[in-house]
Formats: sequence, C-alpha cells, structure tokens
Amino acid sequence: GYIFKNESDTDFTLTQNQIWADKIRDKYKNISKEEPLRVHIVVGGKELMSQEVKEVMDKSQNITLHRCFMAGEDVLKEAIEVAKSDVDAWSELTLKERTKVLMNVANEFRKNRGLLIGIAAAELGKIFSESDVEISEAIDFLNFYPYSLKKLNELDGIKLEEKGVGLVISPWNFPIAIAVGGVAAALACGNRVILKPSSDALLCGYMLCKCFWDAGVSKNTLQFIPTQGELAGEFLLKSKDIDFVIFTGSEKTAYKMLKNRPEIHLSAETGGKDATIVTALSDRDQAIKNVVASAFNNSGQKCSATSLLILEREVYEDEEFKKMLIDATLSLHVGSVWDTQNRISSLVNIPSGNLKYALEHLDDGEEWLIAPSFEDSNPYMLKPSIRWGTKKGDFCHMNELFGPVLSVMCAEDLDDALSLVNSTGYGLTSGIESLDEREVLKFKENLMAGNLYINRMTTGAVVLRQPFGGMGKSAIGSGKKAGGFNYVSQFVNISCDFLSE
Ligand code: GLU
Repeated sequence: GYIFKNESDTDFTLTQNQIWADKIRDKYKNISKEEPLRVHIVVGGKELMSQEVKEVMDKSQNITLHRCFMAGEDVLKEAIEVAKSDVDAWSELTLKERTKVLMNVANEFRKNRGLLIGIAAAELGKIFSESDVEISEAIDFLNFYPYSLKKLNELDGIKLEEKGVGLVISPWNFPIAIAVGGVAAALACGNRVILKPSSDALLCGYMLCKCFWDAGVSKNTLQFIPTQGELAGEFLLKSKDIDFVIFTGSEKTAYKMLKNRPEIHLSAETGGKDATIVTALSDRDQAIKNVVASAFNNSGQKCSATSLLILEREVYEDEEFKKMLIDATLSLHVGSVWDTQNRISSLVNIPSGNLKYALEHLDDGEEWLIAPSFEDSNPYMLKPSIRWGTKKGDFCHMNELFGPVLSVMCAEDLDDALSLVNSTGYGLTSGIESLDEREVLKFKENLMAGNLYINRMTTGAVVLRQPFGGMGKSAIGSGKKAGGFNYVSQFVNISCDFLSE
C-alpha cells in the first residue's frame, strides 16, 4: 500500500535551480507592470466582482500588484447556502475517491511551484527558498491528511462522517501551506470549505484555490471568499451553518470567536514567544547558525520564530560568542525580494503595535546590540536587530513582536532559563542548544511548549516528523497538531457501532 513520504525542497545552490530561480524572477517581477491583476471572489461556481476593492502593492518595487474584489454580506450568505447544500455531492465520494482528487491537487502544486513562488514574492516579499519549503509542506498536507484519515478509518467499529461546512481563516505569513493544510484536512474528511484568506494574501489564496479547482475539486465544494476580517467575524462566524473553523492568527481574535460561539469546534493556532536556550555545554558555532535562521528568516514573521535567546551566564559573558552573533546577523543581505541574493526582504506591514513599540523603547538595563534600521529608507525593509540584557518581565520578554527583533537574556543555569521561557504564558516552539544528554532530558521534561527542538532551528516543522501546535496561549480551542495523525479527527463525527448495539 501507499506509504507517506515528505516532498523534497528545491536545492537553490545547484546551478540548474539558480537558472530556474532567475526565470521565476524575470517572469513574476513584471507580472503587473502593464496593469494590476484582478482577483475575483469565487462563490457557487461563479467568479464575481464587487464594489469594494482591496489594492495590494509589490513593496520591493512600489507598484500595484493586484486589485481584489471583497465580498459583502450577500455573497457570504450565498457561500454558506452553497456549502451547506453540498451541490456537487463531495461528501458522497468514498475516501478513496477523495484521496485520488487530493493527490491530483498535490501534483498541481508540483506543477505550479514556480508560479506560487513568484506570486508570494510579489505579494508578500517572501524570498524564494522560504516559499519553496511551504509549497513542499502544502504537498505533504495534501498527501498526508487523506492517509491519516484512512488509518483512522481502519480502526475496528468506527464510523466516520463529515461534519459539514468548514471555514478556513488563513494567515499571510504562510500564505500557502497553512491555507492548503486547513483546506486539505477538511476536504479529505468530506466537508465543504469556505476559504477566507488574510486580506494581505489574497492573490496567493486565489492561486492555491485554482490548484484545487484545476485538479477536480469543484468551485462549489471549495469557495474563495476574500472579505474583511470584521465582516467574517460578524457574519460568517455567527452563522449556525458553519460547523467548524480552522484559524491561524492572534489569540485575541481566537478568544473572541470562542466567546461568540462557544459551541463551535475551533482549531486555532495562535501566537508564540519562542526561545532558544544556549547552555555552556553547547556547540556555539552551530547555535549561532540555528538562532540566526530561527530569528530572522522571513523577517521573524513566524509564530515559531525564536524571539528570545536565553544564554547561560558563561555564554552570555563570552565576548567571542557575542561578536559571532553580531557578525552572523549583519551578514544577512537585506533588500528587494527580486534580488535572489537577499536573505531578508520587506515586511508585510509597516511596523505597528508591539513591533513598533519594541523598535522605539528599551527597558531599563537593555541596550541594542544591533539597533533597528531600514534599508534604503523603505519603511517595509526593516533590518534585523538585537536587544541585549532583556530581563524577566520586560516588554520584549512577554510580548510577541512578529518581526526581525531578537532579545537576549541571561540565565544563571538551565533551571533559570526554563523558568524564563515558561513564564511567558505562550507555548508554541522552543529549542535548546546543548550537547549534554542530561540537559536535553531536563529541557524535554520541563519546557512547556508544543514543539521542542534539540540542536535545530525552532522553525520549519516537517509534516509527520514534527506535528505542529502549541499549548497555553498558543493553542486556543480544541486544536490538534497540524501534520500529525490526529489532526483530521477534529473534522469528522466519529461513532462506534458497538456502542449502539
Ligand atoms: N509551521 C511553521 C513552522 O514550523 C510555523 C507556522 C506559523 O508561523 O504560523 O515554522
């Protein structure tokens, strides 16, 4: 039978792949030069326009990339009706038939890897290699969820039925993988799906839906509904015909959803305040490499990003370590996403909220090891910065920033380090850099987070190998880990024959 295998990423160090990357750049850099693209609402099989239009810029070039039509209340009503009535009888297909369709969708993603990389670069300033891994993850979700459902199905006496209509509210930081993961899991189970992507990632949302449609999922079964967050909250979430919600975003929004509809099944992945602990018994070169990538890839715009670097005193006082950290960070090229040498490009939004506050304030005793600055005075092009001497309870110890700012704290020993991490109230990812087995064991037993990493980055969870999801403020509602065997069990009703006998 079928055995699940992870999809390979592209090795951009190979010449043939560099040539491919140049081709993507040449094609998508100019995609909207003549006139902005148009992104339609897709409801009940129709592509619609509307009065309200959201305009999105390519921030590396300061040109309008696309205009997207935003759905109003009438459209949302229609979307729910269509989804509820299951016009194209998706739920009546067998699991085997649905699996076949989703495998075709996975192939469609393979075919469109270059296109998706190109539009994520244009829309979100996401560098090619970062999008590449998310496309592999999306393909993994498409193959893995039907497979895990089959395993669940094989349990004796268990009957699985779809829940009905799922609403997927996806974020902009992983505009492809997280949306595809939610849609794939819900569809595998026989549900109909309404996708409401982040209003910063509408073109990616549309293009990924197109991969589903082109591979045989009908436009009634998967509808693409770009709409403002408030309207989705007001209308979609209050509808009794939405049976479950898969949400990635802020904990504030997740709490609000639960308050509005306590009975709904909510699978939410919310924020993180993730740390890497570096002990005196670590390989310090390796630690620098992992920390810099975990903190600054995708400009730190990942829930899983390391934003606290907790150094055991001996490492904290090691001047050479400090210098290596500075040098490694300054060596990251920052600039246009279309220059494939750059490792860091534009932010999705100009710094506001916590990030803006952190850029402008230091707590007592904190200093900048690398002060924040912008490349070419572009307010989106924020360079990585490092705070030194952050203490327990400081603003940057407790608050998620979602940007390229790393705060370094000193811990007396591993116990102290663990308690600094556990006191944030979040619990998504965290890492330890240590070559000592006893330290690693202590970390595994005492650090309260969903994903614990040993001598590895805190980002880039791999489907099946590292099921992804947190605890505490990082996972609200009844979430199961994405990319894990139990994930799909949330989107089916399970009954056992022997109970009713
Ligand atoms: N799953 C991603 C990772 O492991 C993070 C997802 C997120 O930031 O929301 O890096």
